[in-house]
Amino acid sequence: MWINGSGHPGSGDGREIVNPGTGATLDTTVDGTGDDVAAAVEAAAAAAPEWAATDTTKRAKILHAVADALQEQSSDIVATLVAEQGKPTLEANGEFHHMLAGLRYYADAATKVRGTYQDLPSQFGPAYGLILRRPFGVVGAIIPWNFPLTLLANKLGPALAAGNTVVAKPSETTPLSTLKVAQIATEAGLPDGVFNVVTGAGATGQALVGHPEVRRIAFTGSTATGQKLMETAGPMLKHVSLELGGSDPTIVLPDADLDGAIKNIQIGRYWNAGQVCLAPKRAFVHADVFDEFVEKLSSRIQRYEPGDGTTKPDKPHLRIGPMHTAAQRDLLVEQVADATDAGAEMVTGGHVVDGSSEGDGHFYQPGLAVNVPTDSRLATEEVFGPVLPVWSIDSLDEAIERANDTQFGLGSSIWTTDAAAIQRAVNDIDAGITWVNQLHYGYDEMPFGGTKMSGLGKEHGLEALAEYSELKSSVVGGLA
Ligand code: NAD
Repeated sequence: MWINGSGHPGSGDGREIVNPGTGATLDTTVDGTGDDVAAAVEAAAAAAPEWAATDTTKRAKILHAVADALQEQSSDIVATLVAEQGKPTLEANGEFHHMLAGLRYYADAATKVRGTYQDLPSQFGPAYGLILRRPFGVVGAIIPWNFPLTLLANKLGPALAAGNTVVAKPSETTPLSTLKVAQIATEAGLPDGVFNVVTGAGATGQALVGHPEVRRIAFTGSTATGQKLMETAGPMLKHVSLELGGSDPTIVLPDADLDGAIKNIQIGRYWNAGQVCLAPKRAFVHADVFDEFVEKLSSRIQRYEPGDGTTKPDKPHLRIGPMHTAAQRDLLVEQVADATDAGAEMVTGGHVVDGSSEGDGHFYQPGLAVNVPTDSRLATEEVFGPVLPVWSIDSLDEAIERANDTQFGLGSSIWTTDAAAIQRAVNDIDAGITWVNQLHYGYDEMPFGGTKMSGLGKEHGLEALAEYSELKSSVVGGLA
């Protein structure tokens, strides 16, 4: 753990951190107890007044210094991320640079937090109103294992820029890169107690959510955990943002740049071995181009060779890492079996790699499925792995109706240059974002977050910065 600017042993049970590509034990961490969480929150609370009072120019400078120091140690951090998460080095590098961009975006924004002035009527004497933005104090940041670094930066950046201090709880399976980031941040000049890390699983997260000094919770994870978290946070009236699961639709119309659509849907769905929240997870392709779409996408994904993220296959093969855990792989196996038992066909892949078992990597051959029953688990649940169901549609109306026929509302996309179709998709798809002829990618500049069961609140953009402070009004009179 990292508390008040130094390593903290913790008092709970030990936990082995395992490389999902090789089965090797990388390190051991300790599951944080209520006492460990309390120590971290106390350190953060003690550091909060001074950090909030720190000149914003200085805060911005420190955050940039942290990003510079992280950049200098990029190869070590990236290697740790590959080892604990399993993703290929190329993808880990991408994640690392996205984290830096996010931190720098909010470092720049630290000096731009603004309140407002309001003229007031004078019946009680001349007065004016001020609307101030004040940090919450301690922010609890709870992070999943699929993008440990970018999802940390999405919370750490705006929280610190707005003058809060942070206690982060990474996933129990990917704590090592986060601990490195915290140590480097301290060495780069972030004051002690401003950024603390407690390791552990759900019980540790629950203790963090339930600590009365933590007034703002920023959570990314599954919808089920988000609901559970609300049971604690709700009665305590905490400010909460929830970035939860998704099952993004992507619609491909006949006039689309089909090769561009196929390439970007491929990257979106199979990046990070499909363990991505904002990925195209249900494809609705117009009947006129359906066969060509399926054939071309299927031949592209046959290039994937599952393997350890530190190695590269010979061209034209592409590396895809392991599923992060055996449980994650087994869930995907069940979802696929549910669909194929009901008549779905795998055009390619869609099975565990022969000989891949717990201990030596949870490798899964990426799949593409057609004729998937709409009530099967592959269609109705979040699929957090490298399998894409593709359906043929006859009209935009049908595509939008089916796109919205889900409990989720995270992302969505459409591939067409027809202005009227774009306009309809942008207005009528129930989701936090609609990409048009673009990869499902979370830009630092754009507010991102789901509707329906995909969450509450936003990450990214100045909108997220605003979610890390409270408004306070002041009426000032007696001066005239
Ligand atoms: P998860 O919900 O199992 O765990 C997320 C985090 O919550 C972990 O740190 C975990 O230890 C902690 N946790 C578990 N139980 C808790 C509790 N009762 N109280 C507090 N914390 C608790 O999710 P996961 O399997 O690690 O991640 C995958 C999920 O995350 C997927 O559903 C995915 O869609 C979602 N996700 C969403 C976004 C987004 O931006 N919307 C981004 C990435 C991942």
